[in-house]
Amino acid sequence: TTIGQALLNIVADHGDGLALVSRHQSIRWTWAQLLAQVDAVATGLLALGVGKGDRVGIWAPNCAEWTVIQFATARIGAILVNINPAYRTSEVDYALNKVGCSLLVTAPRFKSSDYVAMLREIGPDRLPALRHVVVLGDERHGGWLNWSDLLVQADPARLTGIEASLDRNDPINIQFTSGTTGQPKGATLTHRNVLNNGYFSARTMRLTAADRLCIPVPLYHCFGMVLGNMAALTSGAAMVYPGEAYDPRLVLDTVQAEGCTMLHGVPTMFITILNQPDLDAFDISTLRTGIMAGSPCPETVMRQVMDRLNLTQITIGYGMTETSPLTTQTATDDPLEERVTTVGRVHPHAQAKVVGPDGAILPIGQQGEYCSRGYAVMLGYWNDPERTADAIDADGWMHSGDLATMNAHGYVRITGRIKDMIIRGGENIYPREIEEYLLRHPAVADAQVFGVTDDKFGEAVCTWIIPRADAILSEQDILDHCRGQIAHFKIPRYVRIVDRFEMTVTGKAQKFEMRAIMERELG
Ligand code: ATP
Ligand code: MG
Repeated sequence: TTIGQALLNIVADHGDGLALVSRHQSIRWTWAQLLAQVDAVATGLLALGVGKGDRVGIWAPNCAEWTVIQFATARIGAILVNINPAYRTSEVDYALNKVGCSLLVTAPRFKSSDYVAMLREIGPDRLPALRHVVVLGDERHGGWLNWSDLLVQADPARLTGIEASLDRNDPINIQFTSGTTGQPKGATLTHRNVLNNGYFSARTMRLTAADRLCIPVPLYHCFGMVLGNMAALTSGAAMVYPGEAYDPRLVLDTVQAEGCTMLHGVPTMFITILNQPDLDAFDISTLRTGIMAGSPCPETVMRQVMDRLNLTQITIGYGMTETSPLTTQTATDDPLEERVTTVGRVHPHAQAKVVGPDGAILPIGQQGEYCSRGYAVMLGYWNDPERTADAIDADGWMHSGDLATMNAHGYVRITGRIKDMIIRGGENIYPREIEEYLLRHPAVADAQVFGVTDDKFGEAVCTWIIPRADAILSEQDILDHCRGQIAHFKIPRYVRIVDRFEMTVTGKAQKFEMRAIMERELG
């Protein structure tokens, strides 16, 4: 089925049920009200000449309009291009040109970024394909349109006709990767990719129309738009957006006020929530499940999240933008040990294997590259056959660039990214293993381990540590914690106590940036 059809189905079953809450906008819509918005905007897009296969960019932080545009573009077969809210002039210029957007929906500004000024700076000459700019809000910006121009009288008959011409294997989204290891790549995804991924993740968490999903993760990323929005669309649960950008207090407030049952986040988000000094003052007893994913989920963090946030049925998901995103997920009835140390087993209708450098499947328990195949694999990187061929082999296997092991019961452990492995004097060091160890120190809130160039050993181990709120922590404490407990070559040569990491908007530590900073400092 298509996203438009899925929306019609949910409206038929739960039209009066709560669909979307955007706290900072004071918006509350039922599924029927959401469909009315979507159909109005879909008709508005058609009136502007946008049709099947056309690219529509969205450059905005989380808001209700984001989701309306996501569903409205899918309803008419247009391809949504999600642009990172942190992008600046040259990156937006690159992204819009790369995919040839004919219409762009943009927020006027976000945080310190004036989007309108940045677009003016790029200028129409550099964006020949771009025919319309729609600015969210009521303000007028020169000759550009605003949101109310898109909200026209819906034409259901015309939309029904278009629906019949759509195919579930049509591309509907160009989804950029996080940019954790460098330049983000645009993965082209279909209705079938994202709807099914949302469905299987929702089924694993046993979501129903009674659930309320707190979605603090960015909608521009697959975590928000698939594991949030598509999981809601396929289960009838409500999507609740705490605010434009991630803020642990807004999340706690939102869960308490809306009685949210589910909470998504990358590990760093959960760590900042656990690190709130007055956490116990919030009533978050309605929480039940959610997904932690996006980067390694430390065992200590998982256990605390279960105990202190009442997320007794939380799951760990693993995947990548290129696979829509999840291919594995823990289940609430898995043994506890597997739920806190593995990323679970492969999802239905997906296949996974762990291979050696020669591409051959490795014996159980041996570490190699994780590869996956099945419905969730993207069509390819937009307009980039070379990189697509590097990532997806002739048999359809997506090569992840992640190191993993699989046990006899099919549980997968992610041991790190191939790119992040540190090679010190011929010894392979896995940062993840050291991070897990550092996190056991009671004063450590978050830890990142990476390699820096070293004259003698090729690479040296470096760690950046964020202490817990109100804790006092020195570099020496970290070294004392390690001495005699982990092998000497794994003990960090450089320790920095910091208050933040270099991060992507999706909340992932950018080790390549941290490494560059350290190497500049060390000369
Ligand atoms: P880029 O590809 O642009 O460098 P990225 O790989 O971080 O960035 P995403 O597609 O958002 O972009 O993230 C997918 C990656 O995130 C995976 O390849 C993996 O390295 C990591 N990841 C996701 N979930 C988990 C998890 N549960 N445990 C460990 N790592 C994870
Ligand atoms: Mg990647």
